[in-house]
This record gives sequence, C-alpha cells and structure tokens, in this order.
Amino acid sequence: MSDCIFCKIANGESPCFKIWENDEFLAFLDIMPNVKWQTLVIPKKHYDSDLFLIDDEKFYWRLMSTAKEVIDILKKSLKVQRVWMIMEWMWVNHLHLKLYPMYGLGEDWQINECPWHVFFDKYPWYLTTQMWDQANMEELWEIQVQITNSAALN
Ligand SMILES: [Zn+2]
Repeated sequence: MSDCIFCKIANGESPCFKIWENDEFLAFLDIMPNVKWQTLVIPKKHYDSDLFLIDDEKFYWRLMSTAKEVIDILKKSLKVQRVWMIMEWMWVNHLHLKLYPMYGLGEDWQINECPWHVFFDKYPWYLTTQMWDQANMEELWEIQVQITNSAALN
C-alpha cells in the first residue's frame, strides 16, 4: 500500500534501523519504544494487522520461526533472558510483532513486585501482564458456559 509506512520501510523508501531480514520478513528497532531496543518484525508484503484474517497456516509457522530467530538475536546481544512478544495490531495497519526485551529478570526469575495493580474494563491503549485479585468463581463459570455454548453453535 502506497501510504503504509511499514510498506515504505520494507521496500526501502523510508529508512529504518534494520537488525535482521530475509526474503519475506524484516526486523528493525522501534523509533517510538517504551522499552529500550524494542523491536518490530514485519512481513515485507502488506497484510492487515489482524493476523488471524490470514488463512495460511504455513505463514504462521514462518512468522513464528522468524520471531524466534530475532528473539534469539536480541537475547544474545542485549543479554536478556526473555523477550516479550505481542501483536497489538494498533496504530499501523500492517501486520507487525512487537518484541520487548525484558530487562531486570534475575537468574532466579525473581519477579520484581510492582507497587500498583490495575484492572481494565476496556482497552486503555496499553497492556500489562500483572495479576489482579482473584476473579469471582461464579462469574467465571457463567462466562465459560457462554463461551463454550457460543463455540458449539459454530
Ligand atoms: Zn504495509
């Protein structure tokens, strides 16, 4: 797409801080990170940012294989044990993975306790993996029934 910034990066019209590429995918440092050396992985071909609109299982395998390769590079070069991967699908409507190096994890995987907790009733334009208070078991049962009944109808 001519007005897509990731297409422009992929075809060389716009510069990027490339760290890896092959014929199909490109990885580059995010210029608007909230974690140091946050990295984006994109297919060079334009796809909608909703991955699950793509009906090609082999594409999923190639995308995850690429993610593994780039994550291995980040782990080794940045000396981090884990890299968080998300597909937020927001902002730029060109499929992209966001890779977040997880700095500060100790060798013993000790969790750095966060001093505050959050719970979202609607998407606040950011994500967190913090745990909240235990859910109401009755509500969990009700939504489980609702979801499984809905799945059974399809
Ligand atoms: Zn694009």
